[in-house]
Amino acid sequence: MTKKQHSDDKPAQGGSRPKSDAPRAQALGRDHKQLGRELDLFVFSDLVGSGLPLWTPRGTLVRNLLDDFVWELRKKHGYQKVGIPHITKRELYETSGHWDKFKDDLFHITSREGRDFALKPMNCPHHIQIFARRPHSYREMPQRYAETTMMYRDEQSGELNGLSRVRAITIDDAHVFCREEQIKEEFSTIWDIIQEFYAAFGFKLQVRLSFHDPKTSEKYLGGEERWKLAEDTLSAIAKEKGAEATTGIGEAAFYGPKLDFIAHDSLGREWQVATIQLDMNMPERFDLTCINEKGEKERVVMVHCAVMGSIERFLSVILEHMQGSFPLWLAPVQVKVLPVSEKHAGYGKEISDALIAEEIRAELDVSNETLGKKIRNAKSEKVPYFLVVGDEEVKTKSATLEGRSGKVGTLPLADIIAKLKEEVATKAA
Ligand SMILES: [Zn+2]
Repeated sequence: MTKKQHSDDKPAQGGSRPKSDAPRAQALGRDHKQLGRELDLFVFSDLVGSGLPLWTPRGTLVRNLLDDFVWELRKKHGYQKVGIPHITKRELYETSGHWDKFKDDLFHITSREGRDFALKPMNCPHHIQIFARRPHSYREMPQRYAETTMMYRDEQSGELNGLSRVRAITIDDAHVFCREEQIKEEFSTIWDIIQEFYAAFGFKLQVRLSFHDPKTSEKYLGGEERWKLAEDTLSAIAKEKGAEATTGIGEAAFYGPKLDFIAHDSLGREWQVATIQLDMNMPERFDLTCINEKGEKERVVMVHCAVMGSIERFLSVILEHMQGSFPLWLAPVQVKVLPVSEKHAGYGKEISDALIAEEIRAELDVSNETLGKKIRNAKSEKVPYFLVVGDEEVKTKSATLEGRSGKVGTLPLADIIAKLKEEVATKAA
């Protein structure tokens, strides 16, 4: 069974993970809640409320590194960042249709003047208002907006579970407004971004064409002809990519077909992660157009895409998948410097300062523990590398580097820095 994540026809998150998963992950020491505590990434507070994780300095660093990676991939393809407030008048969701469908999932706010507002459970209608601010010539299409932002869902307390299901969800959201003839290229680009992103975590991705079910056509918006055109386009993209895509009839969103990506983790579980969705409904509801070559208004289409989906959920998946052992580029502490004894602490400090100056996240262990104990601590903190410095290292101006797969060797500091930087730059798994 595949665990669903973000989909735009529902406000975020999607389906739950089967109950049997948590004990299994726990038994293997892989429960993300336990790993998150051990690695000091996030915390819950009774005063703030359940389902509302608070991000520690280390957890925030990891979230930002993940988000920077997605942005690095998107930036190359003409995406631009936008920003929106976290609340809106109810009229926005009445126009989008979300008020009718999802009003029970929304956190409602009443202003002092008695106006109804809601905390946003998705970002699309806000982004649409940015696109609609002025007319767009066909020459400036597509418009690609990206924003990593938090949204809120009034989940029932019993449904909440660590980071897997929360009330404050961060999405690496993007919306592309384009012409029909541009759909193929936009999907193809996002597909490449998704492939590159998931490869860095060692996930094998499987692709599903999520199509509508013509037998229940009343569930979907728009005519049969339009659906056929849209679905044929997605099939053609999958073929061009040489992907062995499966087809899920009845898995489409009510407004259009989707490409869903399913990741297989190291525990043999499947997670629905990234999604690319074609939407011909919202542009209709909000009357979104561009001015074409003939000077006429032409209806545009919208593509919704999240690479990680919910960052909270994505983190829960990678924590369990990697058992907390993040690759070097993502580890909050990349290197621990371990002086053999107190008299090597000065040299240890020199080494860690030099690493920090090179933007390597180093920490010096100044405890009074034995070297053996310091090494055990570094390992239990899942730090990718540690450097031992003793008499020999002080004398030869070097350090002894050891990683998760064993000793690398006693090397000059310049060589160590070069090696670590290379590993970070290539995002080696
Ligand atoms: Zn959206």
